[in-house]
Amino acid sequence: TRQDTLGEATLGEFAEGLRGELVRPTDPSYDEARSIWNAAHDKKPALVVRCHGVADVVRAVEFARSEGLSLAVRGGGHSIPGFSTVDGGLVIDLSPMNAVRVDPNRQRIVAQGGCVWGDVDAEAQAFGLAVTGGLVSTTGVAGFTLGGGIGWLVRRCGLACDNLVGADIVTADGQYLHASEDENPELLWALRGGGGNFGVVTSFEFQAHEVGPTVFAGLVFYPGDQAARVLRGFGEAAANAPDELSLAVNLTTAPPLPFLPEDVHGKPIVAVLGMWSGQTEDGDEATRPFRTLAPVVADLFGPMPYNAMQTLLDPLFPRGMWNYFRSAFFTELGGKTVDALVSSHSQVPNGVSELHIHHLGGAMGRVPADATAFGTRDHEFILNAVARTPDGNGFDEVAQWARSASAGLGPDAASYVNFTGEGSEESVRASYPSSTYDRLVAVKDRYDPTNLFRLNQNITPSAA
Ligand code: FAD
Repeated sequence: TRQDTLGEATLGEFAEGLRGELVRPTDPSYDEARSIWNAAHDKKPALVVRCHGVADVVRAVEFARSEGLSLAVRGGGHSIPGFSTVDGGLVIDLSPMNAVRVDPNRQRIVAQGGCVWGDVDAEAQAFGLAVTGGLVSTTGVAGFTLGGGIGWLVRRCGLACDNLVGADIVTADGQYLHASEDENPELLWALRGGGGNFGVVTSFEFQAHEVGPTVFAGLVFYPGDQAARVLRGFGEAAANAPDELSLAVNLTTAPPLPFLPEDVHGKPIVAVLGMWSGQTEDGDEATRPFRTLAPVVADLFGPMPYNAMQTLLDPLFPRGMWNYFRSAFFTELGGKTVDALVSSHSQVPNGVSELHIHHLGGAMGRVPADATAFGTRDHEFILNAVARTPDGNGFDEVAQWARSASAGLGPDAASYVNFTGEGSEESVRASYPSSTYDRLVAVKDRYDPTNLFRLNQNITPSAA
């Protein structure tokens, strides 16, 4: 393998020049350093570079390029297709770079490339600020933002990438660039939805919003056999929903938790969940249409700290399981779409796989299609079919179920790069309108013509 041909002297010199740690297969920390959230991708890199700053990132990029090593870049390590690890190559692990700086006066948040959403939320909420983050606090800011970023503020504040106003990036030739509206604006355009194709982003600057500290949020459960009624009602209520309300439906299996009656444990169940981020006292009324869609099993909506909602789902998404996601955008939640979703729910192969239907639109839908590289804005909904198994047993079967569930909404439906277990050229093309794709190729040609950064939802440069 490549690691055997790298001389000890070369490696020693590389390690010496780093502020961070160089982890090799013989090191005690190797197994921990090589693992990512999705255990379906169990790879053995030759080197993991735990970067402590931009200088380490520049050195690691140059080392990978000059030694001809495959390069994986890791922010939070939540990639579903496993792009943040690689057999025999070099992993740039940014997790030690997790500093956050909030400017309360300008309402800006600057987050280093290895931050997870829990880092950003903790700092920003101290000043009553937030930006659209993930549903799970351990997801990386980097991959999430570069691919788009859908969360509980999406209808009020837009996608995470819509709020990205600046980025520092190390490109394939080891250059350190800033991208903003004034400097390298085409690069900023591409970073807003075009993924990790253009270099290693070492710092993200966001426009923040006044949110919390208290929001009206939570979840309400309905019986599984009411799924069709809940979905149709959700679709109707969503048409009149204000921007401050971002909700999702989850077609799932009742977990054995104390707030659910024992007789529903292990049975199909429907949850409507999400956040009202307007005035807390208006939340009860604003969410009511979504909490009265059918007879209620349990209603756990109420005022809570923003950060409580941002971490509420964490225990349900532990690392170490096998995961496969598949997504499809769609325009209306009614008719045949509801039938297809209910049918997929009834065929779910295990109790940990589920169908998430996010309501989009609002501020996200009002951003012009060509303002960012993010692919699909004019669809009010997206399905994320989340397939999981505790280990490899039965994994192919659940992945197949997720594929059929998304295909059930239309075989040609556009997908979202962050909600896909695939990384084929075909699936990447299916995530962007052709004009956006062509424009991304032009940016790729300029900043990474040899495709050094290829472990991602890859935009193939013209010359490759
Ligand atoms: P990583 O695995 O570190 O990286 C993902 C991709 O980004 C890779 O291609 C990697 O090379 C690239 N990358 C990472 N860091 C950098 C960097 N600094 N510079 C350049 N490229 C980089 N998505 C949503 O929109 N909304 C959600 O609510 C949501 N919830 C999720 C919950 C869970 C439990 C999981 C596993 C995923 C969720 N996602 C969600 C999907 C998530 O947005 C993607 O998996 C995203 O790519 C994760 O980013 P990361 O930095 O954690 O991942």
